[in-house]
Amino acid sequence: MRRAIFLDRDGVLNRALVRDGKPYPPRVIEDLDILPGTEQALRRLRDAGFLLVVVTNQPDVARGSLKQSDLAAIHSELQRQLPLDEVLTCCHDDADQCTCRKPKPGLLQQTAKEYDLDLSKSYMIGDRWRDIDAGRNAGCVPVLIDYQYNEPMSAPPAMRVKSLMQATDWILEHMHRSQGESAIMDLTKLKTKIFADGADFESIMDLYAKPYIKGFTTNPTLMRKAGITDYSGFAQKLLKAIPDRPVSFEVFADDFADMERQAHIINTWGENVYIKIPITTTAGEPAYDLIHRLSLAGIKLNITAMMTLEQVRETVQAVIGGASAYVSVFAGRIADTGRDPIPLMAAAVELTTMAPNSELIWASPREVLNIFQADQIGCHIITVTHDLLKKLPGLGKDLGQFSRETVQMFYHDAQASGFQL
Ligand SMILES: [Mg+2]
Ligand SMILES: [Zn+2]
Repeated sequence: MRRAIFLDRDGVLNRALVRDGKPYPPRVIEDLDILPGTEQALRRLRDAGFLLVVVTNQPDVARGSLKQSDLAAIHSELQRQLPLDEVLTCCHDDADQCTCRKPKPGLLQQTAKEYDLDLSKSYMIGDRWRDIDAGRNAGCVPVLIDYQYNEPMSAPPAMRVKSLMQATDWILEHMHRSQGESAIMDLTKLKTKIFADGADFESIMDLYAKPYIKGFTTNPTLMRKAGITDYSGFAQKLLKAIPDRPVSFEVFADDFADMERQAHIINTWGENVYIKIPITTTAGEPAYDLIHRLSLAGIKLNITAMMTLEQVRETVQAVIGGASAYVSVFAGRIADTGRDPIPLMAAAVELTTMAPNSELIWASPREVLNIFQADQIGCHIITVTHDLLKKLPGLGKDLGQFSRETVQMFYHDAQASGFQL
C-alpha cells in the first residue's frame, strides 16, 4: 500500500494573503506566490515514495467571489511548477453540506480508495484547524505549519513547524522512527532466526534467556579471545546448560581424515550439536567429499567460511539427502571488500532450495540493519556477535535523542580527559 502527503494549498505551497491575522487565498494568477523551498521539499517527499495530493477548500467559488476559470489557471500553474500528483478542490461552502469540505475527510478518503493508500502512514500538512482536523478524521498524521493566525485550533496537531521544509524533515524522520518501532515489535516475528555468535559463557547464558535467540555458534578465534584452553570441557559445560537449541562447534584439524575423526567425537556430545567444517583446508582444498560423507552419516553440519556462490552450490549438492546442514556465508566479510553481499546472499538462498535439509546462514554481520536485510531476502539464519546483539535495544531509537546522547558522549570524554584550550 502506498502512502500520501496531503497538502493544503494556501499557506503551504503558496503564500496566503494575511489580513487582520487571517489568511486569504490568491484570487488571480498574478497573486500566486509559491513559497521558497516548496519544490525542493516536495521532491524529497516524492523521492521517499509519497503520493503528493493537494486538498484545498475554495468556498469563494460558492460565494461567487472566485471564478472557476481563475481557480483553474492557478491550479494548472501550480501543477506546472511543482511535482504534484493531484490537485483536489472543494468549491462548496458550509451551507452546501458536502462531504469534501475540510474538516470533513471526504477528499482524503476518496483518494485513498483510488490509490490504495495506507492512511495511517500518510500525513496531512496544513496551516489551519480545518486541515489538521481533516487529517485526523481521515486517520492521517496531521502536521501544522504554524503562522500563529488569530484563530483557535480545535485539537492539537501531531507536530507544529514553521515551514514546509521543516514539515518535510519531521515527516521523513517520523516515518523512519515508526518503521524502527515496528521492527522492534517484529523481532520475535522475524522469519530469519537469530543465532548468537560468541564464546563467553556468562553472556551466552544471558542470551539463552532471550526468546528471540534461536541458537548459538562459536569458533576457535572467539574461544581464544574468551581465554578458553579446555575445548571439550567448555563445550560440554555449554551443552549441559543449553540442551534444546542448536549449538555449533568447529573441528580444528587441517587434514580431512583428522577432521572426520574430530567431527565424530564432537557429534557424541549432544543431540543439538552442529559440527562446523571449514569449506577448505588452510591450503585451499575444498572439503566437499568430507561434507558429503559426514552428512550422509547423519551428522549435522555447519559448513563455514564460505564466500562464493560456487562454494554454496557444491556444498548444497554435497548435503542432498543427508542430515540437516547450515550453509554459512560470510556476508560481512564480503561487504568488507566493498561488494554488496545482498545479491549474492539472495542467490545463495535460492541455491539452498536444492537441499530442503539445508539452511543458509548470513555470517559475520557488521550492523544491526543486516538482520532485517537477511530477513528481507528470506535468509534462514543470521549469526550475530554478542557485541552487535547489545545494540538491539537501540532499534527504532529516536534519532534526535540519539544525536543528543552522542553530543553528551563527546562532551563527557573531553571533560574526563581534562582537555584544555
Ligand atoms: Mg491554508
Ligand atoms: Zn465540498
